[in-house]
Amino acid sequence: MRVLVAGAGPTGLTAAVELARRGVEADVIDRREEGSSLSRAVGIMPRSLELLTPSGVSGRLLAEGMKFTKVRIYRENRLALALPLDVMSPRHGYAFLVGLAQDRTEGLLADAFNRFGGSVRYGTELTGLELRGDSVGVETSAGPSAYDYVIGADGVGSTTRRCLGIDFPGFDLPQTWSIADVDAQGWPNTDAFTLCQLARGQVAVVAPLEANRFRVVSNTEDALATLPLKLNTTNIRREGQFTISVRQVAEYGRDRVFLAGDAAHCHSPAGGRGMNLGIADAAELAERLVAGTLSGYSASRHVDGARTVSGSERVRRLVTSPNAMTRTVVFAGLKVVSAAPALQRRMAQQILYG
Ligand SMILES: Cc1cc2nc3c(=O)[nH]c(=O)nc-3n(C[C@H](O)[C@H](O)[C@H](O)COP(=O)(O)OP(=O)(O)OC[C@H]3O[C@@H](n4cnc5c(N)ncnc54)[C@H](O)[C@@H]3O)c2cc1C
Repeated sequence: MRVLVAGAGPTGLTAAVELARRGVEADVIDRREEGSSLSRAVGIMPRSLELLTPSGVSGRLLAEGMKFTKVRIYRENRLALALPLDVMSPRHGYAFLVGLAQDRTEGLLADAFNRFGGSVRYGTELTGLELRGDSVGVETSAGPSAYDYVIGADGVGSTTRRCLGIDFPGFDLPQTWSIADVDAQGWPNTDAFTLCQLARGQVAVVAPLEANRFRVVSNTEDALATLPLKLNTTNIRREGQFTISVRQVAEYGRDRVFLAGDAAHCHSPAGGRGMNLGIADAAELAERLVAGTLSGYSASRHVDGARTVSGSERVRRLVTSPNAMTRTVVFAGLKVVSAAPALQRRMAQQILYG
């Protein structure tokens, strides 16, 4: 079976690894000249760890990443809730999140693909597709070829999606968000994901990436200036701004071509689900390709995607609400949760497993 994977982000690499461990060596292309150095998604969810266990990737993610066993929520600079994630029942394998910069997650996936005998062809761009019924004609910057199946894991601006003529309905959020990747000393909560809610619906989030390296994200134009807690920054590795779209395709492919990851859905970082949803798409697609059950792929992933996109939007609207009454209700709710172990378990379950 000849399979082309367009895009070597976390989704495309997961598809490649999951196919390779089942004996299908896909061709993987990416238009970048080399692997990414961007730390975008930093939270790896338990479900992703479970999916990446058979390939051996999870063991490496666990060895290299930080374990977040708590979520701390602040109102301005006052702690409103310290939620232990390990209040989950023991039947759940992972009662924590793993924090790791996305470029390292991609590096570990690429290493696994190499161990299975594959390698990514960088500097190669998908430019066109032709559906031929029994195969797919493919145009790339390296020339024409044909495949039995194509996986479009080429991100939010997907060429695969455009070639298939599939709409990407949804909307763009009006605000500019900001991100900073910094080295800092003395941050007390290295085992926690920290969320600060400020007046007028502003939020700032801190996630440890290494012992003294942190990611700060905010729905303002300056994440570091918005953070109301003291972070003794010694070096700013990267700062930037980004905008957010909330979109999902209605069909995850056509004929022998399938969409996965950001090519099929995108939403805000609230809930930290984007990369994890792409990993789940890719793992299911690889399994179905090998099992010959591709007809169920689109419907199955659409359900999971729609639930995740709407859940992320609910969280974003709640935590960024500028409405003073909503904020009062949120913090009253957190006070109740902090005194009720059963509610803590429920909230931890929601954060870890959705
Ligand atoms: C600032 C920020 C913070 C985020 N935080 C989180 C988080 O905490 N948790 C989380 O789960 N998610 C988070 N995300 C989202 C996460 O980064 C994405 O969901 C994830 O990268 C999607 O992976 P992907 O492989 O589908 O797409 P991408 O990572 O975009 O990879 C697509 C790849 O396809 C290649 N490509 C594109 N077009 C072509 C072409 N025509 N031919 C060949 N190759 C092509 C690109 O070069 C790229 O390498 C964040 C995103 C941002 C921007």
